[in-house]
Amino acid sequence: MSKNSRTVVHVDMDAFFCAVETLHHPEYAGKCLIVGGYKDAPRAVVSSCSYEARRYGVHSAMPIAQAARLCPHGIFVPPNMALYKEVSAKLHALFRQIAPVVEPVSIDEAFLDMTGCEHFYPDLAGMGRSIQEQVYKTTGCTASIGIAPCKFLAKLASDLRKPQGLYIITEDNVDAVLLPLPVNKLWGVGEKTTQALARHSIYTVAELRTKSQAWLQSMFGSAGAQLYALARGIDDRPVEPPGPAKSIGHEVTFAVDLPIRKALNEELPAIAQAVARRLQRDGRYGRTVMLKVRFSDFTTLTRQHTLPNSVVSVTDILRAATSLLKNVKETKPVRLLGIYITDLSKHQQLSLFADPRKQKIEQLLRRLKQQDPNCPITTATAFSIRQTGKRKEGP
Ligand SMILES: [Mg+2]
Repeated sequence: MSKNSRTVVHVDMDAFFCAVETLHHPEYAGKCLIVGGYKDAPRAVVSSCSYEARRYGVHSAMPIAQAARLCPHGIFVPPNMALYKEVSAKLHALFRQIAPVVEPVSIDEAFLDMTGCEHFYPDLAGMGRSIQEQVYKTTGCTASIGIAPCKFLAKLASDLRKPQGLYIITEDNVDAVLLPLPVNKLWGVGEKTTQALARHSIYTVAELRTKSQAWLQSMFGSAGAQLYALARGIDDRPVEPPGPAKSIGHEVTFAVDLPIRKALNEELPAIAQAVARRLQRDGRYGRTVMLKVRFSDFTTLTRQHTLPNSVVSVTDILRAATSLLKNVKETKPVRLLGIYITDLSKHQQLSLFADPRKQKIEQLLRRLKQQDPNCPITTATAFSIRQTGKRKEGP
């Protein structure tokens, strides 16, 4: 590739949750292992499955019941996220030691920009094997690795030889890899674009390559230019370290679908509390409260409301989320309920009309709750104590 070409590594762990489970249960090795839930968990889906289970047609996101039919002798275990996060933390710490710039993609996946580090290794294959060895030493789990001059090709490459795969894409083999691929393997090409291309008898990257940039742009606007570039293995997106979170929230899938009133009265307060705890833990403020509702038929609805002041307390969150949920006219039962706070900042935003006494009390209460999470005083009671000088006795 050209002199200013980059060296981008994509690392993707092999059946990560299963690999971590097997570390703790060596008896699972070589067996059909399915992480997601016990066989009789009616609503669970497969989070991860061993390569042995994949031979029976089991794959991620499949309902557990279906996996149990395909693979009746499989070992079914519920996910242990705390454990996976522990191993993931070690993995990502290792990435930051290996590479000058790391972009985490998920719990078990990252891009490493190794541009300028090539001379530490005999060649790119040596670099890949060295990263695989270090990952295995640090986590006890195996990784597949793709190395290429850009993110799109590196991610494509890591998927080509799984598990424990190592694949390097250079200008010598880029066409051999890219041209036969179906167009939906290109980054950002979803169902709609695939269908639109199919109407013009374009199914593979090779067929896409025959089209001019002008034609693609007339068809897809600015996305056309991206298609033109990706079909040639060009992707200028930088490997970027993570920025601060754009939203903080919490959502719960219920064990059984609930009528909307019941969800509002019985489940919403605990979700609001979890969100408030996360905001406080991160020392963040936000002004927009977003409510997410998924119904029994999987249709999902979101509603949001921006407040004049930063959200600081459970009361603020609950009040905003309740009024949003009250406006939902659907009558279908609710499967999932979530609250998210966005417009996050490190500083509290106050409207000109904010009551400074209330702000002060909220601050004091947060400190109290940090010391004693079960402290029963709410903003409303604290405010009335402050105004009357004594606590009003409730009924
Ligand atoms: Mg993976």
